[in-house]
Amino acid sequence: MKKAKSYLFGGTTIAPGERTTVELPMAKLYTSSEMSLPVQVVHGRTEGPIMFVSAAVHGDEINGVEIIRRLLNSRSLRSLRGTLLAVPVVNPFGFIQRSRYLPDRRDLNRSFPGVSRGSLAGRVAHLFMNEIAGRSNYGIDLHTGSNFRTNLPQIRASLDDSATIELASAFGAPIVVPSELREGSLREAVAAQGTPVLVYEGGEALYFNESAIRVGLRGVLRVMRYVGMLPRNRRVKVREPIITDRTSWVRAGMSGIFTRRVNPGDMVKKRTKLGVLSDPLGDAQESVSAPFTGIVIGQLTLPLVHEGDALIHLARVPDPEEAEEAMDEYTSSLTDEDFGMER
Ligand SMILES: [Zn+2]
Repeated sequence: MKKAKSYLFGGTTIAPGERTTVELPMAKLYTSSEMSLPVQVVHGRTEGPIMFVSAAVHGDEINGVEIIRRLLNSRSLRSLRGTLLAVPVVNPFGFIQRSRYLPDRRDLNRSFPGVSRGSLAGRVAHLFMNEIAGRSNYGIDLHTGSNFRTNLPQIRASLDDSATIELASAFGAPIVVPSELREGSLREAVAAQGTPVLVYEGGEALYFNESAIRVGLRGVLRVMRYVGMLPRNRRVKVREPIITDRTSWVRAGMSGIFTRRVNPGDMVKKRTKLGVLSDPLGDAQESVSAPFTGIVIGQLTLPLVHEGDALIHLARVPDPEEAEEAMDEYTSSLTDEDFGMER
């Protein structure tokens, strides 16, 4: 193994085996306060890949912020090869406001790759691409459900690229949702430069979800082992993820209050009752049933709905029996003692 050289990032030199927080200057606040994008650079003693891990591109999605905080505290990083660029809050403006968006009401995840003289969102995107994604060999972007919706831990990835499929499997989330690259997303911009990138979704905006945090942290460490940034752990066997071939939101047929009968991770058969919609007096009622056999991968947490609102996100799986087994294994792995050791 080759000894690493010093690493230059944002005008700061980081010696092998050291870590530093570098503040990349951003647009000032209109109070004239300085604003910056904090990046913790963890530089290994030996040469290896460069990987970014980012969170809070949507400023209210805080599970990823906690995943990165735990990652940076992890003892595993002592044996790091290569360089980790940890960016816990990509959208500090939204994070302060507890908002998904930027102050200009733009969605940062529709503003990539951005331009240096573009909108505020475009400038933040450009800074991220230039200083962080542009110098990385791999990337993981951490998200949660939005708008009172929670997600079962899942990886969103484009399955056209074999390197990305391998990373998605290595991550070990219970389910992989193949998804088209969305225009303007960080994932699209990073994939366009030829860098394999994963999007992890788990839990709900503005809340900590312990299992989503644990699965996310474990997944990031597993990917780091897989790409050679951390030593392999032979005792850990990663099951092949379930790859869904179709997902669909089950929507409300009437406005009212939704009483849910299922939870994320549940396997449901076609026509299973997912819940009941009723008016507050209980006069009008309508049951909501599964249009196909699948796994609940997302759900509404706020029970107040209008006709047409998305209630339950269902993923069809190629082999329901195998999927059920995989989900059982996933659930038991959350309490496994090995979990602590992987930290
Ligand atoms: Zn998001």
